[in-house]
Amino acid sequence: MGDDADLVGADLAAALDSRGVPDGQPGPASGGPPRAVIVEDEQPLARLLAGCLSRAGFAVTTAYDGPAGLAAVRQVLPEVVVLDLGLPGLDGIGVCRRIRTFSDCFVVMLTARAEEADTLLGLSVGADAYMTKPFSPRELVARIAALRRRARLTAPAAASASPATADTSLVWGDLVLDVDGRTVRFEGSLVELTRTEFDILRVLAEAPGRVVTRSDMLGWVWGPGWVGDGHVVDVHIAHIRRKLAEAGAAADFIRSVRGVGYRLDDF
Ligand code: CA
Repeated sequence: MGDDADLVGADLAAALDSRGVPDGQPGPASGGPPRAVIVEDEQPLARLLAGCLSRAGFAVTTAYDGPAGLAAVRQVLPEVVVLDLGLPGLDGIGVCRRIRTFSDCFVVMLTARAEEADTLLGLSVGADAYMTKPFSPRELVARIAALRRRARLTAPAAASASPATADTSLVWGDLVLDVDGRTVRFEGSLVELTRTEFDILRVLAEAPGRVVTRSDMLGWVWGPGWVGDGHVVDVHIAHIRRKLAEAGAAADFIRSVRGVGYRLDDF
């Protein structure tokens, strides 16, 4: 266990040393440690998580109810928010939706039961990852590290790896992804996706008409260090589908291939 903790800590330290500004991430313009806000009304758990994230290199702010958590996020502008679903005052869904009106930070939602994550399916919550209690704090730290690694690997790395690309748009029918600008349009209408949703749609659009398996999607979007099942992919796909449908896309624009994964359908 100690070895795992050391590895995770080393990874986060490496991320800090890069001094690069992760793509599109809010937060203080100056240097300093990355900031995390924990919103959890079980105070012993909140303190435990705060200690773990602090040891992983984060400056941690803790809040014990929804309104205080939202206020903390507004004030701190963290890179990462760990957000319990069941909170007094304002629940995690309400907090996350409000956060999404001003921040694209990573949100890891904590749920008390696996079924709660299912309930979130189809809701426009905007969380990047879900974790069901009980979980080990080390697992949480590993997931956050994977999210941050992904942010470093996507836009900036891809842009520098492809020299002088004249056209960074991916087009499939009425769908247009601007890879550099990280914007999506369908039939000309802007489709507002979260960072994770954009990355998933980008993977599909880079292989249009071909099936992308859930495990491949986890590897591409979350990175090889990701430990989790494909359910999280389904949750995000549901959100993308709803948003594309609102822009006029057919319900099966992203087609499910039963037991395998997803593909962009022919149009
Ligand atoms: Ca709670």
